[in-house]
Amino acid sequence: MRLDELFARRPRTLSFEFFPPKNERGWHTLEDTIDQLIPLGADFVSVTYGAGGGTREKTREVIEHIAKNTGVPAMAHLTCVNATKAELRGLFDEYSAHGVANLLALRGDPPKGQPRFIPTDGGCEYASDLIDLIRADGRFAILCAAFPEKHPEAASREADWANLCRKFEKGACAAITQCFFEPAPYLDLRAHVTAALGREPRIIPGILPVTDWAALVRFCAVCGASIPESLRETLEPVAADRVETRKRGIAATIRLCRELLEAGAPGIHLYALNRSTAAAEIVTALRESGHLD
Ligand SMILES: Cc1cc2nc3c(=O)[nH]c(=O)nc-3n(C[C@H](O)[C@H](O)[C@H](O)COP(=O)(O)OP(=O)(O)OC[C@H]3O[C@@H](n4cnc5c(N)ncnc54)[C@H](O)[C@@H]3O)c2cc1C
Repeated sequence: MRLDELFARRPRTLSFEFFPPKNERGWHTLEDTIDQLIPLGADFVSVTYGAGGGTREKTREVIEHIAKNTGVPAMAHLTCVNATKAELRGLFDEYSAHGVANLLALRGDPPKGQPRFIPTDGGCEYASDLIDLIRADGRFAILCAAFPEKHPEAASREADWANLCRKFEKGACAAITQCFFEPAPYLDLRAHVTAALGREPRIIPGILPVTDWAALVRFCAVCGASIPESLRETLEPVAADRVETRKRGIAATIRLCRELLEAGAPGIHLYALNRSTAAAEIVTALRESGHLD
């Protein structure tokens, strides 16, 4: 099912993000995770996409597995990295042939060892160019990325808001955000983009379940998200106590989701990291408190 059609019917969605496993053991873990999370009522799932050719194949394999075993709509992430427009069109054909109807259009990060993104000759420079290409193809619902705290390379928050507006204007039906840990940056982004577009676009908060202090610090260093002082004060003093950190981190994640949903967020996209227990606890708590139906 196309997500633009799903969104027209569902004011709020629950979704999970997975990544293609690297080995056999990772596959088993992912299969178990999918078996446990899908029955919690996922509206859709998404699968990330790496820069190398091998990972691209794997994105499709995971999507096929999900389609065959769950029937839940799946979305493939797709980037501009190392691909000409002709190659990207070839991928559209492959995805379409495998029943994929939804693409998350991304510029992508530079491959390892490359300090900045260099567009491929004959390829796309920005996600908005990829949106043009997918839109011209016509077979897919298109989503894009949003950055509540500003994309690390953007000249300013204003420039980054303008970029998100451009992606909506070019045809994205929704955006999924980078992770963030307090509502303010998300609400700010939504207010500015709504004012600029003259309508409220669908911006789905991307939520990272917080379970481990060191892992959180590492994750944020990679993706450029900042850790608010209040979360640091909650977690850092108990960082050596895994059980207490997990308990406090999950409570903070549930609180953030509740605040966002109360402020009208159109659902929650959980970065499940191919593990089920934290995501399941969060969803169960949100359903129990009536924040998700
Ligand atoms: C939900 C989500 C999922 C992701 N999944 C993946 C994945 O599967 N694989 C992967 O490799 N990466 C993934 N990423 C990371 C993403 O690819 C990187 O953050 C990348 O650096 C930016 O991608 P983008 O699509 O936002 O790029 P863009 O929207 O193109 O923006 C990139 C930068 O260029 C600026 N910019 C855009 N257009 C213009 C313009 N016309 N003129 C000047 N500046 C401009 C923007 O402000 C921004 O700073 C994901 C990110 C998110 C939030």
